[in-house]
Amino acid sequence: MRKWNFCAGPAVISEEVLSEVRDELLEWGDSGMSIMEMSHRSKIYDGVATEAKQDFIDILKVPDSHDVLFLQGGATHQFSMVPLNFSEPNSQADYVLSGSWSKKAISEASILTQVQTIASSEDKKFTYAPNVDLWNISSDVSYVHYCPNETIQGVAIHNAPEVNAPLIADMSSVILSEPIDVSKFSLIYAGAQKNIGPAGLTMVIISKDFMDRENKNLPNILRYSKHAESDSMLNTPPTFSWYMAGKVFKWIKTSGGLEFFKEQNHKKASTLYNYIDNSSFYSNPVRIENRSIMNVPFILADNNLDSLFLEESEKIGLLNLKGHRSVGGMRASIYNAMPLEGVNELVDFMKIFEAKYG
Ligand SMILES: *Cc1c(COP(=O)(O)O)cnc(C)c1O
Repeated sequence: MRKWNFCAGPAVISEEVLSEVRDELLEWGDSGMSIMEMSHRSKIYDGVATEAKQDFIDILKVPDSHDVLFLQGGATHQFSMVPLNFSEPNSQADYVLSGSWSKKAISEASILTQVQTIASSEDKKFTYAPNVDLWNISSDVSYVHYCPNETIQGVAIHNAPEVNAPLIADMSSVILSEPIDVSKFSLIYAGAQKNIGPAGLTMVIISKDFMDRENKNLPNILRYSKHAESDSMLNTPPTFSWYMAGKVFKWIKTSGGLEFFKEQNHKKASTLYNYIDNSSFYSNPVRIENRSIMNVPFILADNNLDSLFLEESEKIGLLNLKGHRSVGGMRASIYNAMPLEGVNELVDFMKIFEAKYG
């Protein structure tokens, strides 16, 4: 029986999508084979891949100035691919430090280029995000990198900042949760396993003008333009993940697009935050304007009750609520595929637990 899965990633996928995939698993259409047994150069697969890309472009309203790539290697690979391509020898790359993932991005980029951390919230254990007005952007900077949604700390920078430099964002845990203005970004990347589909696929949205500036002295596999020229089929792509991502894009489209999910996601997040804020038993340490709508960490007044909380929640079908080891406590990841019903059941459980032990 399927239960409510609050895992941060790989994460919940819509049951509608999974059922469709199950129905098509042995034979795609009347092709005589499963989609995962099919050549990525076949006509059928090309149709599936092209449609997925178009649906992604449609739902995010990706402008013609930008290209969309289906890559591998996860967001972690982008931590190095970005500086390999876009850091210039005599300039620096500016990074905003707002949580564990931007910290990793900084650490990887530092191996390859001169990195300047232009704003940081590490002083308060990443319980807020550095105010955009205080980002101290250098004049000859190659690009500015930030993470709009820190998956581990549940800290978000909700509005894309206006900066006078190419803006790059790690949107792994927030992409497709609400509409964004893609034109503000030179490059966006996101691993698929949070809000899109199975692991193995990494989405990249890149401005074509920006792509022209890439480092030409790299192997093809590390060059964005080589992936773009070959429609992300420079080598064998993760065909099954791409196909499933396409199903998710279609599901988003037919559900009402990103406006619908924005409303849903805000409703889910405020249901949970409101309850937490009104309780003296649970708390969330993040500054209100920086709270994530996708990942909601919370701590219990008495951490001796943590394991009991996890044991009892699991028993009634609320799974993967354990917080990241670096933060402790609990975390509920409530991506697009988690319905309001799941969040309501979580809140109901939290009330009962509080009444029993609080
Ligand atoms: C999960 C995550 C990553 C790491 O993704 P991988 O695909 O495992 O490399 C990076 N950044 C953010 C914001 C994430 O949520």
